[in-house]
Amino acid sequence: MTFIPHGRHLIAGDWIAGAVTFRSDPAHGPAHAFSEATPALVDQACRAAEDAFWTYGQTTRVDRAAFLNAIADEIEARAAAITAIACQESGLPQARIEGERGRTTGQLRLFASHILKDDHLDIRIDPALPDRQPLPRPEIRMIQRPLGPVAVFGASNFPLAFSTAGGDTASALAAGCPVVLRGHQAHPGTAEIVAEAFHAAITGCGMPAGVFSLLQGGGNAVGQALVTHPLIRAVGFTGSLRGGRALFDLCAGRPEPIPFFGELGSINPMFLLPAAMAARAEGIAQGWAASLTMGAGQFCTNPGVVIAVAGPDAERFADTACAALGQVAAQTMLTGGIAEAYRAGCKAACEAPGVQTLTAGAAEGSAALPVLLRVTGDDWQANPALHHEVFGPLGILITVRDTAQMIEIARALEGQLTCTLHMDADDTELARRLMPVLERKAGRVLANGYPTGVEVCDAMVHGGPYPASTNFGATSVGTMAIRRFLRPVAYQNMPGALLPAELQEG
Ligand code: NAP
Repeated sequence: MTFIPHGRHLIAGDWIAGAVTFRSDPAHGPAHAFSEATPALVDQACRAAEDAFWTYGQTTRVDRAAFLNAIADEIEARAAAITAIACQESGLPQARIEGERGRTTGQLRLFASHILKDDHLDIRIDPALPDRQPLPRPEIRMIQRPLGPVAVFGASNFPLAFSTAGGDTASALAAGCPVVLRGHQAHPGTAEIVAEAFHAAITGCGMPAGVFSLLQGGGNAVGQALVTHPLIRAVGFTGSLRGGRALFDLCAGRPEPIPFFGELGSINPMFLLPAAMAARAEGIAQGWAASLTMGAGQFCTNPGVVIAVAGPDAERFADTACAALGQVAAQTMLTGGIAEAYRAGCKAACEAPGVQTLTAGAAEGSAALPVLLRVTGDDWQANPALHHEVFGPLGILITVRDTAQMIEIARALEGQLTCTLHMDADDTELARRLMPVLERKAGRVLANGYPTGVEVCDAMVHGGPYPASTNFGATSVGTMAIRRFLRPVAYQNMPGALLPAELQEG
């Protein structure tokens, strides 16, 4: 059955319309009208979230796991309609959206099973030592408790897995925190149908209505009202460096500052070491071209920069990458604005001193074609403007004088989500010298692979030093993401009846 959005916000269990509307701008299919949120509606949603926290924050892990599984079931019950509207709004192909939906429900179920195990609570118990000299020790028991209402911003580039029911929402709900979600303007219909799944799961599980609210549109004023609302305790965000930094600064400037978990920009450099290049430059180039252009390059882990020693192997790499990228057809980007920003970013990079254009397809409107540039190590280092993410299929090959310059470039990098080594056994010595640098720069270091495709699992880190993220101690993918929305509380000499259930057992 075709899903036709009604265009209302979900606040505390009610679908609320506003006086002013905006129209969606789908890549294909019909546009629809959606109510614009206001700071007054933000206030209503945050108060409902705070009310809900008094009960939701005290629910058992079993009840919360059942709720997370119910959300996944309700999403699956709407699978075909979700795929249809998400494809229309984002322009992403059906197979990608179906994969993303599976990842979204898988993530919800993973958090359900994760909280049942209780590792995330990091329980510590120091028994009392009444006879200790010179002073007795009290009994101290520690556990992680939920923070309170969390604001989440849906990301443009993952309409499902990093949006309404995405990793930020799933991990906050798993922790015991209600969520106020600001939908992304690029896919409001997708946000609405997923919010319907929430609505059904909340009712079915008897959860408090304010545990999840969805607000759409309303411009920057709405996002600003949300992160500065006194009842919001933390923020989850994926998006641009500029937008993320503005919101981070607002969180830090509040009378009571709160953590802002922003995942911002990353160029995900790949270091191509000499023995690997001598053995298989063409193969690495083919793999890079595929990774760089996957999903029109709209992945935060897109490997935008490769570094190789100048010489015949780098030339073979450049020729193969050029040929492979030249065969890639134009792809529709998520929004016209993102396509425009991509073209402007490519133009600025092409015009930077010392930059040589190896291939540059011209596309218009929402379409994008890959661009491949080459620059020497010296020119790269002299041009910090090149070091920032251009969101889309732009690749830059840096040819360095020698491996010493490769290490210098690594040392000068900003924080990254990922760094990758392409290496053979004879590269091990050089790789050993790079590793202490790369592990300081990135949340994830890979060998002989491509960073697109982020596994959702216990050991994943999707974060890194600024500007990859605003909080290098955290990840937004994988089960450790739940720790962002918990804080430790110690209970000293507390009667058992007053302790959280998990602490009574020890
Ligand atoms: P964005 O412009 O940062 O917007 C993300 C969200 O933040 C939107 O909901 C936006 O709301 C809000 N926002 C941005 N600036 C704000 C401000 N000053 N005050 C209040 N709210 C603000 O990101 P985007 O729309 O997803 O894409 C634009 C660019 O972001 C892309 O071209 C790309 O460069 C980058 N991007 C990077 C990644 C990544 O993973 N690294 C992912 C997605 C996008 P409004 O609707 O009110 O603007």
